[in-house]
Amino acid sequence: MRTASLLKRISGVEKVVIEGEDFEGDDVVIKVRLHKRQQRRCSRCGRRCGGHDNGRGRRRWRVMDFGTVMVWLEAEAPRVRCPRHGVVIARVTWARTGSGFTHHFEDQVAWLSTNTSQSAVGQLMRIAWRTVGRVLRRVVEERREGVDLLDGLTRIGIDETSYRRGHRYLTVVVCHDTGRFVWAHPGNSKATLEMFFAELGEERRGRITHVTCDGAEWIHDTVRSRCEKAEVCLDAFHIVAWANDAVDSVRRELWNEQRTSGDKQLAGEVKGTRWALLKNPENLTGRQADALAQLEADNSDLYRAYLLKEQLRLLLRQPAEKAIPLLDGWIQWAAASGLAAFEKVAKTIARQRSAVEAMLRHGLTNGRVESVNAKIRLIQRRAYGFHDPFALIALAQLTLSGLCPPLPGRGLL
Ligand SMILES: [Zn+2]
Repeated sequence: MRTASLLKRISGVEKVVIEGEDFEGDDVVIKVRLHKRQQRRCSRCGRRCGGHDNGRGRRRWRVMDFGTVMVWLEAEAPRVRCPRHGVVIARVTWARTGSGFTHHFEDQVAWLSTNTSQSAVGQLMRIAWRTVGRVLRRVVEERREGVDLLDGLTRIGIDETSYRRGHRYLTVVVCHDTGRFVWAHPGNSKATLEMFFAELGEERRGRITHVTCDGAEWIHDTVRSRCEKAEVCLDAFHIVAWANDAVDSVRRELWNEQRTSGDKQLAGEVKGTRWALLKNPENLTGRQADALAQLEADNSDLYRAYLLKEQLRLLLRQPAEKAIPLLDGWIQWAAASGLAAFEKVAKTIARQRSAVEAMLRHGLTNGRVESVNAKIRLIQRRAYGFHDPFALIALAQLTLSGLCPPLPGRGLL
């Protein structure tokens, strides 16, 4: 009797009947059964149902180690016939459905995964990393039942981030007011974002007032059709990035021209200005500043491109009442610059004018989303080897959405 209480307390598995315990090699196996009233319940809804068959007989669940000893729980795993869910495996009170580990074991895996390296988790818990991914998905799914991350959203940021060495994308949604990462799904298309808005539902969609994003049309179009009242704010960082790309294309054009005309020395000089042109002037090295001064002296197209970029960058830092009138001047200047790349930027900005102005007026940037994305990329590095994007999302939600369970037995800290 005392042994039974001790085993229950140490394994963290309460409300069971201990039938016996034994050594099996170096491991300990504890044989248990559920209390009568916990038996024959559907593992999906918990409803008591009629028995179906013995399933695959007895099975085992990993319990947290007792010191250095690996411990298993062994019990019957019969199937029941639920009026709603059909034939399903019967629920056990010590583990999540479909898991081969106890609640405590999985909670510890989740906690460790958000706090330490992949190899530490694997070695300490003695499980494969792939298994960790499945554990995290189960823990997050359960934790999300109690917390609706999409509640109370008014100002959100939407962006995409790449995973798996840039081959695949996740769409990421962040709440501006809490800074919390609230939603992600593999994919970067209208269809992906539609899933977010469907989950949000009509009523909550109506409460969204501001959406920050880059210039991606799939985001703009979807937001405009799903949240008619929301103001779309184009991110300043992305606008500057368009100008940087334009500078780079002017530079490449010039370099190609000079190279084909045989002016190798000049071509080399132009090539060497790449970083000088894209940097903010206050960060230039002495050599980069000299390279720019040379361009200015030559009065080249490239120098004009540089000035256009810098003007735009500085303009976007001004308060709205100053910046908005200046924007007209900039668009005209760029449109008449004779530089095709900047004519294109001018057109894009003119087309997205309301979203640029909204950004200036509300001072909202996509910075929060960018910083969440940067954290997701770090998590991804830690999660290297997850082939399942949902496992990556689960780890990101445990880490960044406040879903991580406390360590077993510690209560809420
Ligand atoms: Zn059921």
